[in-house]
Amino acid sequence: MKLLKFLQIILLLLTAAALSGAKATLILKGKLYRHAGAVSRELKCGYYVSGKNYCIARGRENFIFRPERADFRSSNISVAGSFPARQIGGHLYLSAIDVNTILRPLFTPRQSIRRHGIRRIILDPGHGGVDRGAAGKSIIEKKLVLQIAKRCAAILTRCGYTCILTRRGDYSVPLNQRTAFANRSKGDLFVSLHCNASTDRRAAGIETYCLTPAGASSTNQKKLSNTAFKGNAFDGNNFLLAFEMQRSMLLRTKGHDRGVRRGRFAVLRNLNMPGILLEMGFVSNAAEEKKLADPAYQEQIARAIAVGIISYHRRIYNCR
Ligand SMILES: [Zn+2]
Repeated sequence: MKLLKFLQIILLLLTAAALSGAKATLILKGKLYRHAGAVSRELKCGYYVSGKNYCIARGRENFIFRPERADFRSSNISVAGSFPARQIGGHLYLSAIDVNTILRPLFTPRQSIRRHGIRRIILDPGHGGVDRGAAGKSIIEKKLVLQIAKRCAAILTRCGYTCILTRRGDYSVPLNQRTAFANRSKGDLFVSLHCNASTDRRAAGIETYCLTPAGASSTNQKKLSNTAFKGNAFDGNNFLLAFEMQRSMLLRTKGHDRGVRRGRFAVLRNLNMPGILLEMGFVSNAAEEKKLADPAYQEQIARAIAVGIISYHRRIYNCR
């Protein structure tokens, strides 16, 4: 106990030393930035610097930031921030948008997320009908995502949830109708299921998208937008859901981490509930396509999605 107190005092001294002489906030290119040490103190986290790595940590969450980089790391998951961290006079600054939509939901969920019940889960198998989605040698995305959605729905139903699919067969459903259906069905959570493809046959792995916060640019786009969509009311929840989903997917599939990312996908923009879009693997990669075609692996993915949802549910429940 004494040792714990001693370590806490050392940590506070280190944080205070790291902050001495630094401004708590800065405006850089019109954006508000906050001193990483001051943020860590506010979130009751530890803060330490090791070489070029600046770390904000508490419990099992351990976030590493590097100067001029917008890809942050937490344990084995990479998280695409909205803006690069900036190093000024030996101090690290993080954009207020990243503090509010990544760190706060994770470290102070009670104050930063919407608490809500979770009973009705909307699973959205992408594409359908004439829209085949990505195609590998043997896999067509529209078929695979429907199979996995059905497997996942069966697991979630066994766990006591009500699961609703935006399509149950091979027909096309316009993107805005998927969102409207989810809202009309009074869903508590929305998960859109997709597979990736790339001209680079080596590309492989798993990525989870949540809606880009207003005032930021998406991971795959430079264009910044200040538009706030309906779905942005759940920025904190969206991030937590994406983070838990990515963690569960990596743990259970042993897939390559391509990170939690941000995108303004049409199906996510106008949701009345937290939502994410999951890219479960690359059908253009021979090894990954082979795995995705295996029913046992499909069941593993379905389980990973269910566990991701349940882990998010637990987080929401624990901060009541
Ligand atoms: Zn797709």
